[in-house]
Amino acid sequence: MPQQIINQSEKLQALIQYVADNSVFYQRVFAEKGIDITSIKTPADLAQLPFTTKDDLAKYNDDFLCVPKSKITDFVTTSGTMSDPVAFYLADSDVERLATNEAMSFKCADGSENDIYQLMTTIDKRFMAGLAYWMGARKIGAGIIRVGPGAPFLQWESIQRFSPTVLIAIPSFIPRLLDYAESNGIDYAASGVKSIICIGEPIRNPDFSYNELGKRITSQWNVKLYSTYASTEMGAAFTECSVGNGGHLNPDLLILEVVDEHDNAVEDGGLGEVVVTTLGVEGMPLLRYKTGDLCNVHYSKCACGRDSARLGPVVGRKQQMIKFKGTTIFPPAIFDVLDMVKEIELYQVVVSKNEYGNDEITILLPMQLQTAVFKEMLHSLFKSKLRVSPAMEFITAEELSFRIYKQEKRKPDKLIYI
Ligand SMILES: [Zn+2]
Repeated sequence: MPQQIINQSEKLQALIQYVADNSVFYQRVFAEKGIDITSIKTPADLAQLPFTTKDDLAKYNDDFLCVPKSKITDFVTTSGTMSDPVAFYLADSDVERLATNEAMSFKCADGSENDIYQLMTTIDKRFMAGLAYWMGARKIGAGIIRVGPGAPFLQWESIQRFSPTVLIAIPSFIPRLLDYAESNGIDYAASGVKSIICIGEPIRNPDFSYNELGKRITSQWNVKLYSTYASTEMGAAFTECSVGNGGHLNPDLLILEVVDEHDNAVEDGGLGEVVVTTLGVEGMPLLRYKTGDLCNVHYSKCACGRDSARLGPVVGRKQQMIKFKGTTIFPPAIFDVLDMVKEIELYQVVVSKNEYGNDEITILLPMQLQTAVFKEMLHSLFKSKLRVSPAMEFITAEELSFRIYKQEKRKPDKLIYI
């Protein structure tokens, strides 16, 4: 048996015993399904267990918690599968696990103690990743500048003042950053930035060639892009090495399965839903958690020498999952925000792909609401509830009504995909 599997098997056995002792949710699952936990010894034995779904997590949220709340160090939330975001609780050791994960990720992306990272994502708002980046940089002995999202002026001022070597950013922000530099006479080619860790949106096609966004950035700016894919539930990241042929699994932190629509494991190179079992988690460990993300999985040895599995870009989402500006959103969460505003009697949510193939959300609203005060109020509401704010477009009430109630459908078209 390969050493990696032996190590994972030891951690898996400890995990199974731990959730059997401490997780109300898994105690119930084991009892209901009549599972003999001693029969789960290796990753291959996981197939005996049912999957854990996003719905389970939303419905039985606190039943997953394995320690008293007094032992929780950091309280985070996912962006919500339904109307309410799901709580995620990190014990102190989980915060440390996050730091370890990110340190390994940075090293995989050729980072070292000589680097200075510029963090262009939020570190607060109950968001896990920003915190992880900060701790990871610290752990490898690098420096980090917490600029946060947006603010092109501050980004450039910070780049010129502190000379970061690596940016951590949502990639679709980079063209905006470059546009700003061009219109303000900033010589970005001389900036000293050598690479960008790209989060939240893909920069590659499934064959690893750059997608439109990846091409746009690299054709304009001589930087190396490293894609990284992660989620709150995993508390770990799949980060690309210098070869750029998919994000590497960290086998110490996760057991990865990739399954087809019939829940069978897909072959090397195949497309399927990403399923993870978290290793070494104290607060909210998960067994066979279905992420809903669809990726190609690669089991062959990478040219960098690592033999860990790799995931290609997220090419699709189960059901109606929308990944918008690096945040995962489901339409009901958008409806919930709109439904909170009593002035809004009619609306339609339009989900489309932008020129880079990423999701865009536009809310169609009646013309009479088009005031600066209303727009600002709705923008802030979206920011506070979903962390991101969709575009708004105003059309006449007649036109909107026609679009929502057209055809003889039983339900109005609150949501359309174009
Ligand atoms: Zn590699």
